[in-house]
Amino acid sequence: AKQRGRNTYHRFDPGHDRQLQVRQAQRERFARAIDNDELCLYYQPQVDMGSGRVTGLEALVRWQHPERGLLAPGEFLPVVEGTPLAASLGEWVIQRALSQLSAWQEAGIELPVSVNISPVHLLQADFVVRLEQLLAHYPQVAPQRLKLEVLESAAMHDIQAALEAIHRCKALGIATAIDDFGTGFSSLTYLRQLPVDLIKIDQSFVRDMLVDANDMAIVESVIYMAKRFGRPMLAEGVETLEHARALAGLGCLQAQGYGIARPMPPEQLPTWLATWPGR
Ligand code: C2E
Ligand code: CA
Ligand code: CA
Ligand code: CA
Repeated sequence: AKQRGRNTYHRFDPGHDRQLQVRQAQRERFARAIDNDELCLYYQPQVDMGSGRVTGLEALVRWQHPERGLLAPGEFLPVVEGTPLAASLGEWVIQRALSQLSAWQEAGIELPVSVNISPVHLLQADFVVRLEQLLAHYPQVAPQRLKLEVLESAAMHDIQAALEAIHRCKALGIATAIDDFGTGFSSLTYLRQLPVDLIKIDQSFVRDMLVDANDMAIVESVIYMAKRFGRPMLAEGVETLEHARALAGLGCLQAQGYGIARPMPPEQLPTWLATWPGR
């Protein structure tokens, strides 16, 4: 009854058609942004706080909009997610990351790169086949250097399809991280089935863990559980030394956040690596 109420509301909402038109125009504009090469990838380092070693880089999309300037994903992903454009974006991101990996390899930088994969994209029937095709264009890049980040909510949406995709990627040598962990209410049973290689503790809990006892409780529980399942974990949103210390004290040594480095354009990475003390 609630569902029908919602539909009825929309049918008689005079603003609704207009809103749909605006969304459609925004989607068309984004499709052109891909074609016109207006997107770029920034890279944020991930480090091991025990050894100081840089363990990898997360690729984060940006839109260099000719009129609006550099846009973060929060400003355009909402109209993209859940539509076929999410898969077009994902393919662009994978392709660009592979090309960057190839260029860095030439320059002697051998770090793996993680890309964010949208739920609709991961769950596409030909996702893994397309991934193999993209990898085949870069035979010089080992598949082990590309990693996928999949939202906890995506993995839970269609557990069987997600499991199959993740297993097939693993067979190709591609590791998977479960992103924003703690926000998706996964059942422990499902988590145990997911063959993911890394659990990323969501930054919303990490950010406030030192001032909010509830967030601290979530962070502690996720770390405890990841340890019990023997899964490596990484804390996102590590903004200060105090965060890093507290997390290390709880047993979570892998970290990513503004306190270590902000996402940066690829040309800045060699300089950052040269000044990073733990390298
Ligand atoms: P995410 O995957 O959780 O990525 C981490 C986000 O947190 C990034 O925001 C990053 O810049 C930001 N961040 C990193 N360290 C800190 C910190 O210490 N403090 C705070 N407050 N924030 C921090 P960004 O780049 O704006 O991306 C937002 C989200 O957009 C990402 O969240 C991801 O879900 C999505 N996204 C980004 N790039 C892509 C992409 O290529 N494809 C898809 N499908 N989604 C993407
Ligand atoms: Ca991510
Ligand atoms: Ca995340
Ligand atoms: Ca997030």
